[in-house]
Amino acid sequence: MKKISFVVPVYNEEENIHEFYRRVTEVMAPLSYDYELLFVDDGSRDGTSRLIRELAAADSHVQGYLFSRNFGHQLALTCGLDHATGDAVISMDGDLQHPPEMIPQLIAKWEEGYEIVQTIREATEDATAFKNITSRLYYKLINTMSEVRITPGGSDFRLMDRKAVDALNTYRERARFIRGIVNNLGFRYTTISFVAPPRFAGHSKFSLIKMLRFALDGITGFSRVPLRLAFYAGLICGTGSLLFLLHVLYVKYISNDAVPGWSTLAAAQFFLGGVELMGIGIVGEYVGRIFDEVKHRPLYIVREHIVKK
Ligand code: UDP
Ligand code: MG
Repeated sequence: MKKISFVVPVYNEEENIHEFYRRVTEVMAPLSYDYELLFVDDGSRDGTSRLIRELAAADSHVQGYLFSRNFGHQLALTCGLDHATGDAVISMDGDLQHPPEMIPQLIAKWEEGYEIVQTIREATEDATAFKNITSRLYYKLINTMSEVRITPGGSDFRLMDRKAVDALNTYRERARFIRGIVNNLGFRYTTISFVAPPRFAGHSKFSLIKMLRFALDGITGFSRVPLRLAFYAGLICGTGSLLFLLHVLYVKYISNDAVPGWSTLAAAQFFLGGVELMGIGIVGEYVGRIFDEVKHRPLYIVREHIVKK
């Protein structure tokens, strides 16, 4: 019998774990697949890990990987993908915004021969206008800047064949934008659209800061355009100031009416100072990321693996 692994990162989701478990179990019961349900507890401070422990004690399908602290959604996902043993792996959020009722559809596509079945979020029922607009702009931006294509609205709700999972697992970078990596693994790829329902309970665990960091990971991970921008800004300023120098020489030696032009100088200096700082900032961002990567620290730390003996 073929085996499906579910990878579910959870962070303070005590109100959702039971409902999630119930609905996945209900969907899987009539299907003739073996399955494992891997919860990765990303350092929750509520009752999440206790609930996982109870479920794992009662049902051998369930396992838990408890992190020593909060490492973030992408690293929790990574842990699950590292440990999943199924012939196919389905990753999904634990807040039921990725409807378990779509699982048979994903599996059907897999059985047709697709190795990556990516879901595309057409809309989120309770998302704010702010989140919708920034998300749309972001995917436009990242697709303009990077050489690889990243599907707009792509979520981390997807099925991957064992071959694709093994390929993804060879990517060990720390700043991960998994949906970008998966988009560019190759393999036989297909998509399914869906409308994400509101969370079953609780509120989003992505703060604005976490969202921004994630967005930046996506851009710096897939594009060197910002670095090139700094170079072009320098080029434009350099050419501009050369023209300005010609003008200065003209005023001084030919038209002979040089005035004390402190305002021009001050303006030019502020402008150049700004451009220089921006350039250093962009370079610093990439250097910082090199620093993070070369340390080769573990991507996550598992405090405990919960599995029925
Ligand atoms: N999550 C996580 N670690 C974090 C933040 C979120 O494991 O630091 C989990 C969260 O519990 C949920 C999934 O990632 O299962 C998606 O998060 P959320 O629903 O808060 O994001 P949104 O749907 O609002 O983008
Ligand atoms: Mg959610």
